[in-house]
Amino acid sequence: MIKKHGLTANKALGQNFLLDTQLLSRIASVPGDLQDSLVFEVGPGPGGLTQALLQAGAKVKAVERDERCLPALQELSNHFPDQLNVINEDALKIDLSQLFDTPFHIVSNLPYNVGSALLIKWLSSADWPPAWQSLTLMFQREVADRIVAKEGSSAYGRLSILAQWRCDAKLAMSVHRSAFTPPPKVMSAIVHLTPKEQPESVSPEMLAKLTQTAFSQRRKMLRQSLKSLPGGLDALKTVGIDGARRPETVSVDEFVTLARCLSA
Ligand code: SAM
Repeated sequence: MIKKHGLTANKALGQNFLLDTQLLSRIASVPGDLQDSLVFEVGPGPGGLTQALLQAGAKVKAVERDERCLPALQELSNHFPDQLNVINEDALKIDLSQLFDTPFHIVSNLPYNVGSALLIKWLSSADWPPAWQSLTLMFQREVADRIVAKEGSSAYGRLSILAQWRCDAKLAMSVHRSAFTPPPKVMSAIVHLTPKEQPESVSPEMLAKLTQTAFSQRRKMLRQSLKSLPGGLDALKTVGIDGARRPETVSVDEFVTLARCLSA
């Protein structure tokens, strides 16, 4: 497909393609049985992962920014009639509620330049549980580690808290850089997230602001970094968190309690 359609990888679009069909079908199996399920895929590119999803029986709606990929995806669509629908758009502009009116899974070998922004967008949905049933996403290994990190670890930070407040987050598999064409400089990993039914209710914006402020100076004590946040020091006292602690020792639940107190 890549040769036939002259799809030389465009670095600016994060194009590192996966061609190993066994690996692709393992990735497509991470969300569970996809027979007759709906899947949203970001960045199908030449369609390797898309094909694995279609073979697993999913109906796929995919959004691809690079119009050079469209003829290859049209060929794939011809092989799987009524299973694939491709939108030529920037995934950041897609409103999922306009695309799906029944639950769906999100599966993607994400373009690295917009991966975290998309994850934060999906995690910040006003309604919870969200319309999506699971996220199966490829990230750079370092970002994947941050998403699943537990308090006390050096990878623990804003992304861990935003993800684990509302989801159960697991590292599903590591993917060696040599699996990609062209190979990126770093290793990758697949993260699998499923929404918690009833996470503590807190404003996603407040939690994002609090964690950003706390981790902007991760070596500093909380009473130092939260000074700049209106009500920050009072909130620490109210919820009984010692201001001498560093942010990476504060659990997800404690950050949520702190954000609720700040909102109040
Ligand atoms: N799914 C293919 C695979 O696994 O081999 C390609 C994955 S490649 C890492 C990322 C894909 O996302 C590329 O096809 C790229 O053109 C597309 N892409 C990059 N930025 C995008 C955006 N903002 N919206 C939609 N697609 C985008």
